[in-house]
Amino acid sequence: MELARPNFIIVGSGISGPSLALFLKRAGYGVRLMESYSRPAEDIGGALQISPNGMKVMRELDLTSEMLKIGTLSDEMIFRNHIGKILAMIPNGSVSQFGESAIVVSRARFHLLLLEAAEKEGIQIEYGKKFSDAEFPLDGGVIAKFEDGSSAEADFLIGADGNHSKVRNFLFPNFPKPEYTGILNAGGFVSADVIPEKYSKRGPIHFTFGPEGFFGFAACGNTEDTSWMWWSNIPSEKELTREEIYSMSDESWRNKILEIHKGWHDPIERIIQASPTILKGNVHDLRSLPKWGNDKVLLIGDAAHVMSPHTGQGASMALEDSHTLYSLLERSASVPEAFRDFEIIRRPRVERIIEESRRNGNRKKKLSPIGCWIRDRILTLALPSFAKKGQDWMYRYEGIK
Ligand SMILES: Cc1cc2nc3c(=O)[nH]c(=O)nc-3n(C[C@H](O)[C@H](O)[C@H](O)COP(=O)(O)OP(=O)(O)OC[C@H]3O[C@@H](n4cnc5c(N)ncnc54)[C@H](O)[C@@H]3O)c2cc1C
Repeated sequence: MELARPNFIIVGSGISGPSLALFLKRAGYGVRLMESYSRPAEDIGGALQISPNGMKVMRELDLTSEMLKIGTLSDEMIFRNHIGKILAMIPNGSVSQFGESAIVVSRARFHLLLLEAAEKEGIQIEYGKKFSDAEFPLDGGVIAKFEDGSSAEADFLIGADGNHSKVRNFLFPNFPKPEYTGILNAGGFVSADVIPEKYSKRGPIHFTFGPEGFFGFAACGNTEDTSWMWWSNIPSEKELTREEIYSMSDESWRNKILEIHKGWHDPIERIIQASPTILKGNVHDLRSLPKWGNDKVLLIGDAAHVMSPHTGQGASMALEDSHTLYSLLERSASVPEAFRDFEIIRRPRVERIIEESRRNGNRKKKLSPIGCWIRDRILTLALPSFAKKGQDWMYRYEGIK
């Protein structure tokens, strides 16, 4: 007789939560997915790149063709300085090298795809469940408690509740918190007609460095009339409070962003002018959390490792985490052993990417004209070698052997 498989409560239904739930449910584990939002969040966030390593996991989930319906295949990265001089053009990975393509997609649409797949699989997502704390009964298991006064019991608990994880705060109240990196991020979407013909080919992601700040844009849907995403990184010594971020109108934000990118090459100013809404926030990272869990609870995704967005890897790391954890559970003698091995296997890779993202972010801070010249020279020389060596370790994910 086969023994019943353990069951899990997953707190957080962003990227890592539903992807892990799908793997576990399909393998016969019990799973409950608890989300603090009161309903599916259909309108949150800008756009993301899912790079070839993340797309490998989407293939394992059997969701590649669904992804192709909602995203743009991205085959190239074009780097310029603010006057439009091309510094480097490099492939954004390649199918022949990594087995998958990178895809640019709106976060909201991607998130919805995972939620729909989870629901199709019969995984019920329980909304309005904001984790507060947990108890560990002496006879085993874990009881997760929620701010609405309800609780849920399972054998194990997974904290997949993102950057500001409550599960992390509960487990490790004295551990380091995500740190402000000295950069504000703003972004949004514009319609395809805003993009001039010279840039209208769907596939390349355009990156522009200036004397202060950084601007990027790319197509992010699968039709010709698709929307285009953009983002701007603004160096700022002071982290803004929530009140400061949200008390400023979109028009004031637009003016602040236009001031940074004034005179930059076309179509940067016109994209900023045309964007109907502006998303904004502080950029954080969490360079190294001393522990990711215990025998009963494990943190995954941004709850365990917050990376700044400058390598475009946060969502792909969340997907890799889900796949690695599932694979370890399938082969380990016990769940606590799988939790321990997960941290040992994943930590070096994600911490390397966190540091790489920090370095990339620091290139976006204020520079003198001579500093810009040196940076442009360095990028021109370094980016082609990144395409060969840097992408190789970042975009390659083989799972665990
Ligand atoms: C500006 C920006 C640009 C980015 N660009 C990229 C990119 O190009 N490529 C890329 O791969 N990544 C990118 N990322 C990172 C990416 O969005 C995250 O790394 C990824 O979403 C992490 O997934 P997650 O599941 O760990 O957390 P999340 O996606 O944040 O999900 C956490 C979930 O937990 C829920 N939750 C929170 N608190 C509680 C609670 N107390 N109880 C219950 N539920 C709770 C939240 O509502 C949410 O649904 C970017 C991030 C930012 C900020």
